[in-house]
Amino acid sequence: MTSDDPANGILDFEMTEGQKAVQVLARDFAEKELRPVVMKYDESQEFPHDIVNKLGTLGFMGITWPEELGGAGLTDLEAVVIIEELARVDPSVALTVASHNSLCTGHIMQFGNEEQKRRYVPDLASGKKLGAWALTEPGSGSDAGGMRTLAARDGDDWVLNGSKTFITQGSVGSTYVVMAMTDREVGKASISAFILEKGMQGFTVGKKENKLGMRCSDTATLVLENVRVPGKNLIGAVGEGFKQALAVLDGGRVGIAALSVGIAQGSLDASLKYAKERVQFEKPIADYQGIQWKLADMATETNAARLLTYRAAWTKAAGRNITMAAAQAKYFASEAAVRATSEAVQIHGGYGFIKEFPVEKFYRDVKLMTIGEGTSEVQKMVIARLLLTQ
Ligand SMILES: Cc1cc2nc3c(=O)[nH]c(=O)nc-3n(C[C@H](O)[C@H](O)[C@H](O)COP(=O)(O)OP(=O)(O)OC[C@H]3O[C@@H](n4cnc5c(N)ncnc54)[C@H](O)[C@@H]3O)c2cc1C
Repeated sequence: MTSDDPANGILDFEMTEGQKAVQVLARDFAEKELRPVVMKYDESQEFPHDIVNKLGTLGFMGITWPEELGGAGLTDLEAVVIIEELARVDPSVALTVASHNSLCTGHIMQFGNEEQKRRYVPDLASGKKLGAWALTEPGSGSDAGGMRTLAARDGDDWVLNGSKTFITQGSVGSTYVVMAMTDREVGKASISAFILEKGMQGFTVGKKENKLGMRCSDTATLVLENVRVPGKNLIGAVGEGFKQALAVLDGGRVGIAALSVGIAQGSLDASLKYAKERVQFEKPIADYQGIQWKLADMATETNAARLLTYRAAWTKAAGRNITMAAAQAKYFASEAAVRATSEAVQIHGGYGFIKEFPVEKFYRDVKLMTIGEGTSEVQKMVIARLLLTQ
């Protein structure tokens, strides 16, 4: 993945030594720290604070943020490698890492001023505090511009009223970036982004969701009742929030693509092992072409998803526009991962339906990948719009 030493500078798909070292670190962590407890947390839906603290000491809660702000100072390529390796074992923990890195902290790092970065990023990047990012509302998901949460000016402050739904790290977070409209008549063009802190008067956590998958990732409703937010907590200018949110989501989608690749790879790993062990009609099922073709499709699609994801991360690291690359990576990788988990359960037969086998959890966790940070339909809208306007 360097750009300076391939044959005649065409393309180089080799990871650098540094990237390989990060991959080994993340893989070891996933095997030693996540594998033994993955189902415990899935069953209990308890947020894994102890694991997140350890991830913080490894630098995984601030992967790409500068060292002077408490981050690990790595690139977007290392970020996708880390998320992929964690997701290969526990997608819920990978979701915590991906969302924490890219959404709340990502928004402050991309659009916050120096004072906001100095104030909030060190605790977020070290994992001491968790970040949440609140765009979605009960009545507005894909059509995020149709939100109702209102921010009204009062002297130097803003007063926020409304509610946000499905917010990752909603109940365990300490720092929140919340999008709100300042003028309903103006609508989407008045959406602005504010930094809120846990404990602000009128800012409460509502329902914690009971989910199909990603069960130890925290998802909750936020309620805002006359929450007074200081003017200095506005990110950028009034009316810039929607554009900022779309840019933050572009980055977030690369993380969701990486998560999808990890889930697909984990499903393939488990299926290869099982197919070699399971004997039916006096032969391992891996000997049957019907099973081999499933494995071949899973491996091919996982690699194709990985290439799109790494390309999107490389484009991001190069500072180029990633809207198309991120939407394509997220769309393809998430749908490929859904197919891979389904085939993985099929290869496992009845055992794939049982919680002792990891594919049961992958099958449940994966569905969020085609929904969160923009559904597959939304990704296709983004891709088509760019195709038709470029
Ligand atoms: C576990 C979880 C974690 C989440 N974390 C966060 C978070 O941290 N922060 C946050 O802000 N949000 C978060 N979300 C919200 C998530 O981003 C939304 O659920 C998602 O964007 C879809 O919105 P919706 O659920 O309202 O579905 P809807 O927008 O109501 O969509 C319903 C269906 O209609 C389709 N659809 C909608 N419009 C069109 C169209 N124009 N053309 C074709 N099809 C269309 C959709 O693709 C979908 O299939 C999270 C959601 C979940 C489930």
